[in-house]
Amino acid sequence: MVEAWLEDLMTSYNRDSHAQRAGYLAQVHMPGEVFQSLVWWALQALPDEILVGIDIDAERPHRDEVNAYFEGDEVHSRLFQGQGYVIKEAHIVNRGDSYSVHHLPEDWTDDMFSADRGSRAGRFTHWLHTHPNAPAIPSGADADAAQETQGIDMILGLRFSPEGPLPWFDDVEGTRRTLKSSEEKKPRKRSFFARHALPVLGRAPSGHAIHEIQLIGFHKSGVGVNIVFVDGEGYPFGWDRASAQLVV
Ligand SMILES: [Zn+2]
Repeated sequence: MVEAWLEDLMTSYNRDSHAQRAGYLAQVHMPGEVFQSLVWWALQALPDEILVGIDIDAERPHRDEVNAYFEGDEVHSRLFQGQGYVIKEAHIVNRGDSYSVHHLPEDWTDDMFSADRGSRAGRFTHWLHTHPNAPAIPSGADADAAQETQGIDMILGLRFSPEGPLPWFDDVEGTRRTLKSSEEKKPRKRSFFARHALPVLGRAPSGHAIHEIQLIGFHKSGVGVNIVFVDGEGYPFGWDRASAQLVV
């Protein structure tokens, strides 16, 4: 089950993905259950970043009507491997700081996944890594690491407390995609503290209060890839099946 507050955030993110679709050449559909796991893992691994390998479900193409709804004016249908298929599952592959997280042990494909990935033990299609208490904007090291990716790269940025050794770092330029709450309430008290308190979107099993979640997808060429959060049946959160569109 996906937590209600997270489903609310994914719904508003989907609205943004639709509103901004003209800026993207391609899209990827991410199940809410997988995304929730990614957020929990990110916080459990603190203060490290984690690198996650992501498989697609080759038997589950994007739903046509959903795909069409999120298409921009210009579409590149053969931009990357696994394009057009819903994400299936994710595996933590590495953890470390913003540089070491990208460097896998050389023999990792031989040993690490032989049990659960069968004899193929192949490389993952997509990759995601985390930015604890920093925006989801790629660094130079991130762009370099993406050059070997067959599918797309994603970055999950999280703002949380307690911060531990990682105070919020915001001095980065780039395009941001934040999962906004649809119920941003006005603070009841107009005190200094109320006006400066961060909103708590939800709490993770690790005990952290989550203040902000950002997610971006990009192809190694540098173009952005639009992400759509879908339920177990491949419909976007916030989708009305009768009218085949998002409920505004
Ligand atoms: Zn990074």
